Amino acid sequence: MTLSDVGPLLESWKAVRAVDHHCHPLRRWPFQLTAVELRSAFTEAIDPAIAERHVIHTAAYQGALHRIAAELDCDPSEVVVLGRRNAADPTGYARQLLGRTATEVMLVDCGFASPDSFTLEEQQQATGIPQREIIRIETLAESLVNDASEPREWFAAVREALRAAVKRGAVGVKTICAYRASLRLEPVDTDALGVAFSALRLRLERAQPVRLTGNALCHALLFEAAQACQELDVPLQVHCGFGDPDEDLAETSPLGLRPLFVDPAYRGLRVALLHCYPYHREAAYLCSVFPGVSMDLSLTIPFAGVEGVQAMREALGLCPTSKLLYASDATRYPEVYLVAAVLHREALAEALGELIDRGVMSRSAADAAGRQVLAENARRLYHLPNGPAS
Ligand SMILES: [Zn+2]
Repeated sequence: MTLSDVGPLLESWKAVRAVDHHCHPLRRWPFQLTAVELRSAFTEAIDPAIAERHVIHTAAYQGALHRIAAELDCDPSEVVVLGRRNAADPTGYARQLLGRTATEVMLVDCGFASPDSFTLEEQQQATGIPQREIIRIETLAESLVNDASEPREWFAAVREALRAAVKRGAVGVKTICAYRASLRLEPVDTDALGVAFSALRLRLERAQPVRLTGNALCHALLFEAAQACQELDVPLQVHCGFGDPDEDLAETSPLGLRPLFVDPAYRGLRVALLHCYPYHREAAYLCSVFPGVSMDLSLTIPFAGVEGVQAMREALGLCPTSKLLYASDATRYPEVYLVAAVLHREALAEALGELIDRGVMSRSAADAAGRQVLAENARRLYHLPNGPAS
C-alpha cells in the first residue's frame, strides 16, 4: 500500500529533537574506516567470516549504505561511501552525521567501551550533544567484589555506589543479565549465591578476570538493582532479545521478568525493555498490562532491515504510544547513529501512517504519538528537563 502520510509526518517531526535513551560511546576521531569495520557495526556477529562474506548481502547493511549515501550525496556503494568518509574532515563529517540524527540528549551506557572510546565529557565536547550516564550494574558489581567478603556486603557496596552515581548525575541503571544468565528470573537461592560468590572471590585471589555469570549471581544482583532503582527513583533498563552473540536467545524473552512486575516489593519500579527483537510482541504485551513497563526497538530497527518496520507495526499493536521509546543503541561510528536515527523515524512514520490510512488514528494524533516516542516518553521516564519547544 502507498502511505500518503509518511512524508508529512517526517516533515512535521523534523523540528523534534529526540532523546536517545540507549546508546554507547563513539570511537575517538580521527580514524579511517575499513569495509569490514563498517560492516561489523551492522551485525552482532563476532566471527569475522560474517562481516567479511555475508553482511554485504543483508538488507540491513544495504539499507545502511543507502542512508549514508543519501546524506553524503553519493552513490550507495560501499567503496564510494567509504572513500567519501575517509577523505572528509573527521570532525566536520562526524558533526554532519550526528547533527542529522536531531538528538537532544544521549543517555549513554559506557559498559560497552574500549580504550579508544570517548569518555562522556569528551563525547559531549566532540558532538555538541548533552550526554547523561546509564550505569551498567554487572560491570559496577564486578568492580566491587574485592571490597566484600560475602554477598550481603557486596550488595551493600553496589547500592552505595549506585547512590553515588545517581548523585553525580546518572539517570538510569542497565542490566545485561540476558547474556550473563537466563532472563527467566528465579527466586534467590542463598546457598547457591554464597557458593557462586566464593568462586568469584577465588578468581580474584588468583588474579583471574572477574566475570559475573550464572543465575545465582546475576538474578540476585538484578533483584538488588531493582530495589535500588525504586529507592533512587531511576528506571532499570533491561537488555532483552538479541544484541549480543554470547546470549542464548531462547532465554532472553522479557516475559521472564514477570516477578519484577507482579511482586508488590517492586511496586512503582520503572522498567525499560531494550531491543526486544524477536520478543517485541511479548514486550508490547507487558507494556499493555503493567504500568511501569516501557520498551524500545533499538537495534531491531537498524539490524532487521524492513522487518524493523514490521516490528514497529507489531509493537504498536498492544504497546500504548506513551510507552514506546526511541533509542539508537549505536556505538563507535557516526554512521551507525545516523542510520539508526533515520530508519527509526521512517519506521515510526510508516507504522503511524498506516494507522491514519486505516482510519485508526487522526493525522494529528499520529503526529503527537511520534513526538511521544521520539522524546516525550523518555523525558518523563528519566525525569529529564523539557527540551526546546518543537
Ligand atoms: Zn546497547
